[in-house]
Amino acid sequence: MSTPVRVRFAPSPTGHLHVGGARTALFNWLFARHYRGVFVLRIEDTDLERSQEAYTKAILDGLRWLGLDWDEGPDVGGPHGPYFQSQREDRYRAAIERLLHEGKLYHCFCTAETLEAMRKDQAERKVDIKYDGRCRALDRAEVERRIAAGETFVLRLRRPEREWVEWDDITKGRLSFTSDQLDDLVVVKSDGMPTYNFAVVVDDIDMRITHVIRGEDHISNTPKQILLYRALGAPLPWFAHIPMILGKDRARLSKRHGATSVVEYEKMGYDPEAFRNYLALLGWAPTDHTREILSRDELFAEFTLDRVSSHGAIFDLDKLTWMNAEYIKRFSPATLLAKLRPWLAQIPGFPGGLDEPALVKLAGLYRERLKTYNEILTMADWFFTAPTTYDAKGLEKAAKIGGARGLLNRLLERLRAAPEFAEGPLEALVRSFAEAEGRKFGDVVHLCRLGLSGRTATPGLFEVMAVLGRDRCLARLERFAAVCPT
Ligand code: GLU
Repeated sequence: MSTPVRVRFAPSPTGHLHVGGARTALFNWLFARHYRGVFVLRIEDTDLERSQEAYTKAILDGLRWLGLDWDEGPDVGGPHGPYFQSQREDRYRAAIERLLHEGKLYHCFCTAETLEAMRKDQAERKVDIKYDGRCRALDRAEVERRIAAGETFVLRLRRPEREWVEWDDITKGRLSFTSDQLDDLVVVKSDGMPTYNFAVVVDDIDMRITHVIRGEDHISNTPKQILLYRALGAPLPWFAHIPMILGKDRARLSKRHGATSVVEYEKMGYDPEAFRNYLALLGWAPTDHTREILSRDELFAEFTLDRVSSHGAIFDLDKLTWMNAEYIKRFSPATLLAKLRPWLAQIPGFPGGLDEPALVKLAGLYRERLKTYNEILTMADWFFTAPTTYDAKGLEKAAKIGGARGLLNRLLERLRAAPEFAEGPLEALVRSFAEAEGRKFGDVVHLCRLGLSGRTATPGLFEVMAVLGRDRCLARLERFAAVCPT
């Protein structure tokens, strides 16, 4: 490719970063990185009523959480700024002046009532519903008189007649419309603000965008935008309309399918890399389509638009969760601890006197067990505060063992004298103790586990004991011995 690739993600800050938006941003970013091009972030905040600064921040935070970085845009600037549409009015004004001067726009004074009547009449006559062009022929004097009289107006694009409006969409193939199917597009609204389609085109031209990669819900905007490119005398970029993300029922992903904003997945304890990997596979696959776990650099190397599917992609939470667990399994205990730390910090009592090596070991114990980070909150809380209650079924089982309290007290004596509080020696100690007592190893393990955690299921007992260390283990078992069935 001779011209450097320049792509953009252009969110409207009217809500949080949505899964669909995140996937669009991701595809643009991967495409830019694959071709060593430029990824531009542009905030489309012309809808002043619905746009909120807090949402701009939320979107940027969401993109950052996913590990996406932009070469031009908010915070980083760049040669084609400003990157907020609300700050680009002079650019739109200049383009409007030019088009007016060239006679490509006209003033339309039709009121909402007139347009409504027109629509009704067209509906009754069963003809296409569109602006009938009645203000096209107003002469200059009349236009000036009506403006002076304070009539409100919009500016419309003089739509060419009997022209094909076509493009070769990278993912959808050739798409064809005729200009007669289209309306005389409103370019400037009655409040003087440029319309969405107009601002997008002016910005994409200004920012030298070479490829417009966006959701297929924008396909209907594209012929309108192409007419604007033509009017402005600018070459068309490539367009790639990517398939919608669907729920399992094949309806467009919405709240009723579950969480739709990225931040909710962050809060649910998904790993950003895993989430990004999963998003990348929504409507795209690498050359070897059986490969599912792909690092960032592998995605950069592999991502091309010819591998984007033209059909909808199904968002499958179970698959995402599976992928998240796969990522967790691959982290070293130290890396996992770093990822878990914000979650662990929410647990009352954390760190409960556990030092760094113990915490790393603890993280290692959950590598194979966690599917999402938030699970650590309920899986490992007992490491940091000694249990005060014990699982009822566990107590029943302890009662059946018979003489549990005495057994535990004799084990405590052995543990106090244990030369080394590490997994191997501890296991050997408990085994020989059980044997000497003529008890089942499993029964002794059960008592210890219940006493240490209050639970009947934990990671391996001896690993747990090594994490807790001698003092905590002895103290917890002594407390349990006091209430344990006799
Ligand atoms: N601002 C538009 C949106 O949030 C995107 C415009 C575009 O990609 O052309 O849907």
